[in-house]
Amino acid sequence: MNTSNQKRVAIVTGGGSGIGLAIAEKFTQDKIETVIVGRDEEKLKKATSQLGPLCHPMICDVSNLASIPALIEQVMSKFGQIDILVNNAGINMKKDFTEVTDEEFQQVITTNLCSVFAISREVVKEMLKKGSGSIINISSMAAQYGLPKVIAYSASKTAIDGMTRAMAVELSPKGIRINAIAPGFIETAMTAKALNSDPERKQKVFGRTPMGYMGKPDDIGEAALFLASDAARYITGVVLPVDGGNSVGF
Ligand code: NDP
Repeated sequence: MNTSNQKRVAIVTGGGSGIGLAIAEKFTQDKIETVIVGRDEEKLKKATSQLGPLCHPMICDVSNLASIPALIEQVMSKFGQIDILVNNAGINMKKDFTEVTDEEFQQVITTNLCSVFAISREVVKEMLKKGSGSIINISSMAAQYGLPKVIAYSASKTAIDGMTRAMAVELSPKGIRINAIAPGFIETAMTAKALNSDPERKQKVFGRTPMGYMGKPDDIGEAALFLASDAARYITGVVLPVDGGNSVGF
């Protein structure tokens, strides 16, 4: 997709597995230097050997907000620029509404929302110096309609959509595009955990997905590469469903 030989540097949080790994794969195939961030060193090592020399692992627990400025400094000192940020790392928690503790609620919000703010803030400081950049937040169908038993997750992803719009109007005049992708139901460890033990929910997912099957992480990778690229230069502030029609399904 890229036609120029200009160096581009991306950060993909949660790039060691699932959707993040597929995004990192598309980026490295497009010759983008791609930093993948996660907590699990083994997972990151495996991903790095799969993706090759353009993939660079960095260990960081993004829910530890105090560690984020140092992470971004590390990327800057290694590469000198950040052109693309994909805020993909996330956790889910499926539990009855009344069983969720304040600590569990807070943990999901910190990982899925507060970290996105803190990483974006540090990255935007660098992007502003260049006057360009593309940030892609990974949202969810949980922000498009009501899903039972995922209260903290739904709150975090709905806030991501609002933050995407607010960042877009503030930062697009300064050359930084901000968009989100709302994946439908994609085959990863996260959905296996949420759906395999709940055939009724699985049935419901298929029942309202016009395409009739779950997406692959690669489907999100393709959309992320497009939104990150110059081909999407006039696109900002959108939440793009990549969902086989799930968000409009009856
Ligand atoms: P996975 O569980 O496969 O991957 C999640 C990734 O996030 C892992 O690589 C994990 O790495 C990383 N991660 C989690 N917590 C942290 C943390 N505190 N610090 C650093 N990294 C962390 O899930 P998916 O690929 O399915 O999900 C990716 C994103 O897509 C999430 O934001 C999810 O909400 C969203 N999404 C997924 C959908 C689906 O159908 N699969 C649907 C809609 C949205 P490590 O373990 O190394 O920390």
